[in-house]
Amino acid sequence: MKKNSKPETTDFGFKIIPKKYKTLMVSNVFHSVAKKYDLMNDLMSFGIHRIWKRFTIQYSNTRPGQIILDLAGGTGDLTARLSRLVGNKGRVILADINDSMLKIGRNRLRNFGIVNNVSYIQTDAEVLPFAHNTFDCIIISFGLRNITNKEKALRSMYQVLKVGGRLLILEFSTPLFKCLKQIYDLYSFYIIPHIGEIVTNDAKSYRYLAESIRMHPNQETLKLMMLDLGFNGVEYFNMTGGIVALHRGYKF
Ligand code: SAM
Repeated sequence: MKKNSKPETTDFGFKIIPKKYKTLMVSNVFHSVAKKYDLMNDLMSFGIHRIWKRFTIQYSNTRPGQIILDLAGGTGDLTARLSRLVGNKGRVILADINDSMLKIGRNRLRNFGIVNNVSYIQTDAEVLPFAHNTFDCIIISFGLRNITNKEKALRSMYQVLKVGGRLLILEFSTPLFKCLKQIYDLYSFYIIPHIGEIVTNDAKSYRYLAESIRMHPNQETLKLMMLDLGFNGVEYFNMTGGIVALHRGYKF
C-alpha cells in the first residue's frame, strides 16, 4: 500500500471497516459467544439447524475411509456425524481460526467418545496449511460469511481438495418469498439480539450475525463465485424457503 493511500475496506455486518481488522473482530464475536454457542443455535433456529446439517451430511456422500475437512467447524456438530461415517480407516479434520470454539468442540467430542479418527487444527481458511489434493470432501457450515477474503479462502479450499473431491457450503442465504423475508427480518433484527442479550449478555454479537447474513452473497452470486474459481457441476439447494442454502461443487 502506498503512503497516504486509503486502507482497503470490507464489511463487518453493516459497518465498513479496514480489511485488516475484520478477522480479529470476527474472532472477538466467537470468543464472546463460544460457551453458549450450541444453546443459542438451538434457541434461535428452534432446532432446525440440525435438519440443515443432516441434509448437508447426506449430500456430502461421505463414505468409510475418506478424509474430510470440517472447515470453520467450531464446536464440531458436523465432525461428530462425519467421524461415524468415515470410520476407523478415515479421518476428519476439524479446523477453525478460533481457539475458544475449538476447545469447546474438542471437549464436547471427547465426551461423546469420539477420539480415534478426529484431529483439530487452528487455522485461517484463507491459508489452509495442507498439501494440495488432500481431501475427499470439504464442508464449511455457517463459516464462509465470516471470512474476510472469501475468494482467497475458496481458492485455498480448491487447492487442498483431491481431484474429484467436493466442496459443500452451508450458509444463510436470501429468502425466496417477500413475506418470509419480512418476518425473517423482524425476527433476526429485533428478537435474536434480545435472546442473545438474555442468554449470553451480548446483543452486539447477535446483531452482527443478522447483519452479516444480509451482506453475504445470494444463491446465484455464490454459485458464480464458485464457478469462476474453477469448481465444476456447481448446484445449490434451498432450505426453509431460502433462509439457508447448500452449495455443492467439484474439483475435476
Ligand atoms: N461450523 C460450525 C457450525 O455449523 O455450527 C460453526 C459455525 S460458526 C457460526 C462460524 C465459525 O467460523 C466460528 O467457529 C469461527 O471461529 C469460524 N471462522 C471465522 N472466520 C474464520 C476463518 N477465517 N478461518 C477459519 N474459521 C473461521
